[in-house]
Amino acid sequence: MIDDKMEKIVSLCKRRGFIYPACEIYGGFANSYSFGPYGAQLKKNIKDIWWKMFVEDRSDIIGLDGPIMLHPKAWQASGHTEGFNDALVDCKKCQRRFRADHLIENAVGVDLEGDIPGLNKVIKDNNVKCPECAGQDWTEVRTMNMMFQTEMNGIDEPVYLRPETAGAIFVEFKSVLDSMRVKLPFGIAQIGKAFRNEIVARNFIFRVREFEQMEIEYFFNPEEDWETMFSSWLEKQKNFTRALGISGKNIREYEHPQAKLSHYSKKTIDIEYNFPFGHSELFGLAHRGDFDLTAHSKASGQSLEYLDPESGKKFTPHVLEPTFGVERALLAALCEAYTEEEVDTDKRVVLKFPKQIAPVKVAVFPLLKNKPKLVEKATEVFDLLKGKFTCEFDDNGNVGKRYRRQDEIGTPYCVTVDFDTLEKDNTVTVRDRDTMEQERVKIEELSEFFDKKFSQ
Ligand code: ATP
Repeated sequence: MIDDKMEKIVSLCKRRGFIYPACEIYGGFANSYSFGPYGAQLKKNIKDIWWKMFVEDRSDIIGLDGPIMLHPKAWQASGHTEGFNDALVDCKKCQRRFRADHLIENAVGVDLEGDIPGLNKVIKDNNVKCPECAGQDWTEVRTMNMMFQTEMNGIDEPVYLRPETAGAIFVEFKSVLDSMRVKLPFGIAQIGKAFRNEIVARNFIFRVREFEQMEIEYFFNPEEDWETMFSSWLEKQKNFTRALGISGKNIREYEHPQAKLSHYSKKTIDIEYNFPFGHSELFGLAHRGDFDLTAHSKASGQSLEYLDPESGKKFTPHVLEPTFGVERALLAALCEAYTEEEVDTDKRVVLKFPKQIAPVKVAVFPLLKNKPKLVEKATEVFDLLKGKFTCEFDDNGNVGKRYRRQDEIGTPYCVTVDFDTLEKDNTVTVRDRDTMEQERVKIEELSEFFDKKFSQ
């Protein structure tokens, strides 16, 4: 039943132009995906809401758009070149590769991320079976750096595709201080692609090798009460999940135990969503102390201190890092919106997205495709609305089929132009996605009608 829901979502995404398996004409490529027209729009809407909520609506956070390839020294300083590793193990019988900590966690229920001797021991002691072929013959567990490497003309050391967007925020901290009149506490926010050479990409778009992140580094005076700030950030992250339509009952927090925390972190919490394949990390919030600024300052030889205008003191700010994955946000929004309902004797599938993230806001139909007067009027209505709301014109099949199609892509309203529009009172039928109720609205009042609906 659970896998069933995931399968249904994957199939709907492909059939209805949200998400396609990438490069299918070449037999697919490494579990990667392309976002089709509705997926691309949905993704954009999610990122727009985030940017508005965390950058435009706040006076203490500014935006940044840094490069995907940073100076190689930046990744050495941040510890990624040395330590951004995952542990892998291969089954000698079927040659399948696994992330060793995930294999052990599923088989034995213990989390040994980063503990290579521990992982090797548990595999041997428990005769762990291969989930694919039940074999029990394993290679030694070994680590693999997850950054993708490339080359750049004129640079004689390897260059990396960023495995997280946050790097550029720390690297440009000085430029921001020098150019903007920022006062602590303040944040720098960034949205962009990140690349990780995951050992196994799986669970649709949950774990992929190329994805997008929305990250904030929120800098503060280390003398400030960071715990209150931490709780308030956690609340803000949860507010964002509500904007995606996610119900509180499907969200839980996982606090990293002291033993698993990085040496510089005072606290890290994952916000987990109840995906059809189980609770898994959606977003994260970490206290990173002054680790990054201090490391970049040492490696670059530049001061990354802040001069407090009131006390005249210079110090290195501490930082909280709220991080959000775009693909995981989108997948959670899809899982939450996916609904099957019995209508008469029929089943209807509806994506009940919040109106703000729905890829199409209004669909406009002529009742019949072969009546030029109806098509002409419907085109007029479409032109009237399209500059203000994301609209779609649909004249394929009968109106019932068009409703079903719009339900499946989550369109909140459908507008039908019929013979009464032409012959009687210039009104159209507006049908509500969730209630399926219909009402007649005058064409000249439509724009205002939808303004009200979309501001509710
Ligand atoms: P996981 O434990 O699931 O590998 P992580 O703890 O390594 O995730 P972070 O380094 O905290 O993840 O990355 C920040 C956010 O980026 C995550 O909360 C998640 O939303 C997203 N993210 C990380 N890795 C991936 C991936 N491979 N595919 C899609 N999104 C990802």
